Amino acid sequence: MLSYEYVKCTDLNQVFQLMDKGEQVYPLAGGTDLMVGMRGGKYAAKMLIDIKGLEELKVLKEDEKGITIGAAVTLNEITLFAPVQKNIPILADGCHSVGSYSIRNRATLAGNICNASPAADTAAPLCCLDASVNIVSSSGTRAVPIGEFFTGPGKTALQKGELVQSIFIPKPYPQAKGVYSKASRTGSVDLATVGVAVQSWGNQVRIAVGAVAPTPVRAVSVEKAVNEKGEKDWANAAKLVHNDISPITDLRGSREYRFHMVEVLVRRGLEQTMEV
Ligand SMILES: Cc1cc2nc3c(=O)[nH]c(=O)nc-3n(C[C@H](O)[C@H](O)[C@H](O)COP(=O)(O)OP(=O)(O)OC[C@H]3O[C@@H](n4cnc5c(N)ncnc54)[C@H](O)[C@@H]3O)c2cc1C
Repeated sequence: MLSYEYVKCTDLNQVFQLMDKGEQVYPLAGGTDLMVGMRGGKYAAKMLIDIKGLEELKVLKEDEKGITIGAAVTLNEITLFAPVQKNIPILADGCHSVGSYSIRNRATLAGNICNASPAADTAAPLCCLDASVNIVSSSGTRAVPIGEFFTGPGKTALQKGELVQSIFIPKPYPQAKGVYSKASRTGSVDLATVGVAVQSWGNQVRIAVGAVAPTPVRAVSVEKAVNEKGEKDWANAAKLVHNDISPITDLRGSREYRFHMVEVLVRRGLEQTMEV
């Protein structure tokens, strides 16, 4: 049986004091990764700090600069937030792809990126939207571009004592089509075997792919061919994604299958979002 201390925090200062206490102290948001990981032996937590009740982390707003999503906001709340649906539906797609309705009622965007699975469904859309991660600690705040936030499987740029406060999606928004597609084993509740986000910006495109490298990555070779060289043959462009990835074989799929599926999903994404 697991044994740990549970503290429901009421303000950020309390969080910082507790997080500074030791290595085995974990923030608890929805708990949908953390509790499963603890039962599976991934985390040996001595203390869980429940951050869901903190008002500072419940912010969900749009202003003249963009959209801010607090670390305690659930994926269902994001999916239903009108400015997200209207301006950045690719993020609504990514959030909606996570697990089931009941999982999304607890799970947060911050938890999804802090868990840092290469297959995290929200990561690729955030990479296409140039999101940044607002980090807070007892020593102050800092913002990290989403592309620098992931440093390896299960690893992030967070330092000891740091907490994600919010995720920010800046204006201008794409004003064009974006799609997030996921190949998974069951087609229902399962992590992505491959996840692909394609967001067009006028005649330009941004593409990010998940579950095919140690971290989510931008498909820079495809972007370069389309954006700089004017490639319009989407099948040719999609092949170039192989230069940007290093998939592995695991229980969800083989390396070869991932190479194949990522190319298929990038081609389909280009067909759906780009004008010929
Ligand atoms: C049945 C099931 C199906 C799932 N399906 C999918 C899926 O299809 N796609 C997918 O991407 N994921 C899936 N997941 C994983 C999980 O639901 C998501 O990653 C979820 O978004 C995690 O959010 P959370 O709030 O529950 O995080 P938690 O479990 O609370 O936390 C996850 C990690 O992040 C840390 N953390 C949380 N918040 C912060 C913060 N603000 N600052 C710093 N560290 C923090 C925690 O300490 C922990 O290490 C599934 C999980 C389950 C149980």
